[in-house]
Amino acid sequence: MTITPADSAAVQSALAEIREALGADAVFTERADLDEYRDPFWVLGDSTNDVAAAVFPSTVEQIQTVVRIANTHGAPLWTVSQGRNYGYGGSSPRVPGSILLNLSKLNRVLEINTELGYAVVEPGVRWFDLVDALEEAGGGWWSSIPDLGWGSVIGNSLEYGRGHTSIGSHAENVVGMEVVLPNGELMRTGMGAMTDNRAFHTYPFGFGPMVDGLFFQSNMGIVTQIGWKLMKRPEKYASCWIHFDGDEIVVPVIDAMRDLMLDETINNYPFLGRGVAANKEGQPDLDAASEAWALRFALYGYEDIVEAKWKIVERVIGSIPGVTVGRTVYDGTDREGPQEGIHDDKVQAGIPGMELLDLYKVPFGPDTGHLDFSPVAPLIGTEVLKVIRLVRGLYEEFGEPYAAGCMLLPNSIIVVSVMFFDPKDEEKTRQIYANYDSMLTRVSAEGYGLYRSHIFKMDAVAQTFDFNDHAYLRFVETIKDAVDPKGILQPGKQGIWPKAMRG
Ligand code: ADP
Repeated sequence: MTITPADSAAVQSALAEIREALGADAVFTERADLDEYRDPFWVLGDSTNDVAAAVFPSTVEQIQTVVRIANTHGAPLWTVSQGRNYGYGGSSPRVPGSILLNLSKLNRVLEINTELGYAVVEPGVRWFDLVDALEEAGGGWWSSIPDLGWGSVIGNSLEYGRGHTSIGSHAENVVGMEVVLPNGELMRTGMGAMTDNRAFHTYPFGFGPMVDGLFFQSNMGIVTQIGWKLMKRPEKYASCWIHFDGDEIVVPVIDAMRDLMLDETINNYPFLGRGVAANKEGQPDLDAASEAWALRFALYGYEDIVEAKWKIVERVIGSIPGVTVGRTVYDGTDREGPQEGIHDDKVQAGIPGMELLDLYKVPFGPDTGHLDFSPVAPLIGTEVLKVIRLVRGLYEEFGEPYAAGCMLLPNSIIVVSVMFFDPKDEEKTRQIYANYDSMLTRVSAEGYGLYRSHIFKMDAVAQTFDFNDHAYLRFVETIKDAVDPKGILQPGKQGIWPKAMRG
């Protein structure tokens, strides 16, 4: 699909008005400034997909103003919170020449409710900020976090991002949203649709259809506030691991893990890795011949509960031939001590860091790029192994090293794989993005869809969700046309195009 860049005259007249309304300080148009908002994992130096300007509102009212101006002129906006969605496009827009709306200045933790266990955050609140605020509030509550601490709670959650604690399904932690609609109006969802409702961030539903879902992986609104579910600090936390060699053992391990998750012995979101974990020298092990697998999971609760659960895990998993199990037990209050530097132990305790980024830079140095390819499968041992082999076979076909990092849910799994490349090597970079297309065709033909995608691949992925002549996409685009008739909010995101840009 060829994308027509945004109408430059419309964008320039919108920018003039935005400058007038927000002040010149809030608008960046210099080349050097804009370089910073380019997808770092695209061909280095290629500005073809750049935004025309970056706008930094600092209040909800300013966001509303920008949206109204964009509507008047028909200028497309591309929203990010922190823009750290690397591997999926960073701050790059789907339509080149759009206006980047960067919400990092709205960075207040508006509330931490230590009785009811939730926080209310603005888009610019990073994982680091939220966890600092929770510690300052007494440390009685943990957040779930993804692997890197520099992104925002809202940006990650809206993309169905995931963490590794018992509340690691981030989209499900969002309770009650505030949204600027494409016409500039402010709306609250759920109980928040009632003025001053007392249960806004505790009860997930409202009166009528749940519209919260319309703002996830979408282009229907700009989220300015969410309620975010927290996890009570456990008395004890055990960071546990399962090691085994050889693909065949994936099958009984996955089946046993499913049972232990479904009966709630294990209630975090485990991670199964092969070739992605650091080796003894701290380097990622990308050796395609390596057969070493590692699965990590956590147990939380009162000491006796954690001990009892561990005995069950040892009995069930430890009895699988070829498997070793182990654990490190921490006090819930231990936030800096022994787990310092140990990524697995930190992320399962909601302690944000950046250590994984260093690991991801090893293959090609500081500029190393990666493109993630992540089909979703049901959590059945034989089926998981089938998908892993399918994906690995595709890597082998393209001569790429295969690194797996699978995220387990109680009855499904996201089989994440990562293609590393050097964005300074234009030909190779383009090749990696092209390989993705054939990989997508092959896995979707087997009945597997992707959980998330890079902006360049959103149309292709959306097309694979094709039941009944793409009834889903047609329905969503009907809503898009109704709420955003001028198509100014993130046109093309998730393959959802406004009427005037379709076809
Ligand atoms: P992170 O904060 O993790 O760096 P990003 O800011 O890159 O995440 O956002 C990830 C994606 O989610 C972006 O592509 C953007 O389209 C969407 N997004 C982020 N923040 C918002 C928001 N406040 N409202 C609507 N969509 C958003």
